[in-house]
Amino acid sequence: MAIAVAISESTLFPPAVSPINGYFTTNMLLKKLETNGNGARINALLDSMRASSPTRRPSDNEDQKSWTLHHPSALSMFEEIMSASKGKQIVVFLDYDGTLSPIVEDPDRAFMTTEMREAVRNVAKFLPTAIVSGRCRAKVYDFVRLSELYYAGSHGMDIKGPSKGHKYRKGNQTVLCQPARKFLPMIDRVYKTLMEKIKYVPGAKVENNKFCLSVHYRCVEEKRWGELGDEVKLVIQDYPQLRLSQGRKVLEILPTIKWDKGNALEFLLESLGYAESNDVFPVYIGDDRTDEDAFKVLRKRGQGLGILVSKAPKETNASYSLQEPTEASSYAVPTRFSRVEQVVPT
Ligand SMILES: [Mg+2]
Repeated sequence: MAIAVAISESTLFPPAVSPINGYFTTNMLLKKLETNGNGARINALLDSMRASSPTRRPSDNEDQKSWTLHHPSALSMFEEIMSASKGKQIVVFLDYDGTLSPIVEDPDRAFMTTEMREAVRNVAKFLPTAIVSGRCRAKVYDFVRLSELYYAGSHGMDIKGPSKGHKYRKGNQTVLCQPARKFLPMIDRVYKTLMEKIKYVPGAKVENNKFCLSVHYRCVEEKRWGELGDEVKLVIQDYPQLRLSQGRKVLEILPTIKWDKGNALEFLLESLGYAESNDVFPVYIGDDRTDEDAFKVLRKRGQGLGILVSKAPKETNASYSLQEPTEASSYAVPTRFSRVEQVVPT
């Protein structure tokens, strides 16, 4: 499996340091974070923590209308979507946090509802279905508890197929793909160091996602975000093989391999026998910046569609939108997918 060291594009980074062959090392990244184009020191990490975690405001009506026009509700477009997929095998990809579960203060308590579990179970009866999450695979499995699904944890760096006896399981292979295996001891070391360093920042929480780490600051007072960002930067500057990314009120520490949710989607399609096929229609539902990598892959392949779960207008590569997780659940009601089964080749 080809592995390259890369930093993905991000609004995090002002253009102060040039990548080497398109790639950044951690030290270059930190330099970028600390300087602007004139060389003056700014706390760019703190700025980007604020930018990626805005306080929700009701969006402007016109903005909302124009955004909805370009990203129509996947609920209202259900019939169109189904007719576009006619004769093709639909494969369903679902992010977890913010898509199947609501975003909550304590990430350990991001439970999905029984109704949502039933909806996913019903979809998986008819269609190959995968959960793609930044979380540790074991943890996301504990939340979902459906052994018939594919699971791609750690932002797609830990992929496992359905348990024995399930319809979409391929052969006897259980663990399908762990491209960041060699980083495990390093991630574990950084996890322990971070636990020690951030315990003085009330509300901060480090989550060990096995092949990557999340530093949550949802419960940290905003005046202490800078301090927290500094601690995280200090720790990872000793590890040039790690990179920093971020989502809403979370800093993510990942290995510098070129592998994201988009790669996981392609890997899973290939595993299911649809690498070069025109007879597949992947549907990916997600709410986060990391899901954009999967939306991009769908656009590049010119197949299937991406659905962004978001109440507010956002720049996205998805084609359709859903307002909130409960809509994702109603999107997957069994009666709809039992109709889908009639058009899917067996
Ligand atoms: Mg999410």
